[in-house]
Amino acid sequence: MHIKKPKLAELHAHLGASVQPHIMWSIAHEQGIKLPTKDYWEFENFLTLKTRGRFRGIEKLNNDLYHLSELIQSSPLAVEPIVHQTIAGAYRNSNIVYHELRFNPAKRNRGGERDLDYIILAAIRGMEKAILEFPQIKVGIILMLDREFDFGLNEIIYGKAKKYKSRGIIGIDLAGPQRKNFKLGDLAPIYLDAKKNGMGVTVHTGEEGNLNEMKMFVKKVKPHRIGHGILAWQDKKLMQDLVDNNIYLELCPTSNLFVGIIKNYQQMRKIYNTLYDAGVKLTVNTDGPEFYNTNLQKEFQNLIDNKIFKQEQIDEFVRNGFAASFIR
Ligand SMILES: [Zn+2]
Repeated sequence: MHIKKPKLAELHAHLGASVQPHIMWSIAHEQGIKLPTKDYWEFENFLTLKTRGRFRGIEKLNNDLYHLSELIQSSPLAVEPIVHQTIAGAYRNSNIVYHELRFNPAKRNRGGERDLDYIILAAIRGMEKAILEFPQIKVGIILMLDREFDFGLNEIIYGKAKKYKSRGIIGIDLAGPQRKNFKLGDLAPIYLDAKKNGMGVTVHTGEEGNLNEMKMFVKKVKPHRIGHGILAWQDKKLMQDLVDNNIYLELCPTSNLFVGIIKNYQQMRKIYNTLYDAGVKLTVNTDGPEFYNTNLQKEFQNLIDNKIFKQEQIDEFVRNGFAASFIR
């Protein structure tokens, strides 16, 4: 069975994982960045997860893959073309007409050497170029906070999101591996303020590790969406809280398999269907098509081919993508 190419909304794509390797290669060379290899194919292999399990866990993924891609993307000169190309490419390949792209500006300023405003404005310019080129697309940028940052730096990033809200910064997210002295609850005031200011809020939680963080945040903040959040399948009460508060989950199936969060399609069927059967609203996303060697059309096709979901359910997830989008 083959699904036709519908219009899609991508809600969960990291800029660090969305840029084609050949573009990253050129941009690195233009900036004179020292790369771990002089062989392009080796570089491409490094930046693309072609097989499962090369990066077990989020910690490893962040240290190895994201670190290099963020280094290459760390200048206004790099950010503008990659945002432009990523949005344009996703429209051509996957017919993505609602595109939310997320990135952490403070991981692209070489430890404070570059000005955050310039990085963000470069992303906005790249976004506007893509819209000029393809007026069918609606785009928004989500600025990311990080578990590795202290409260002050996260607050600065949120301040920038607020500052550029009218220019297409549509919301905030938080990512990064768990840290001993990090408490997600500390960021609740920022999140609540963002909601009050009409911004979309999402958060990476319930992907691996402990479920308590997700439970607490759902209760305290009621974010509009949660990145992954799949661990909720183990907890009926939490699933009901997601339903009652109309919180959408941003599923990223291939990412789950490649990072080893989900072992195989059999386990995926069980987890995803438990969430679906409980009435939790699901969306399907790539997490970053280039890292995971996928695209959004492929993600939906995989779910059908591996008998995770049926076409009617796929259609529902496509509709959910538009309904849950922060783009207005
Ligand atoms: Zn993610």
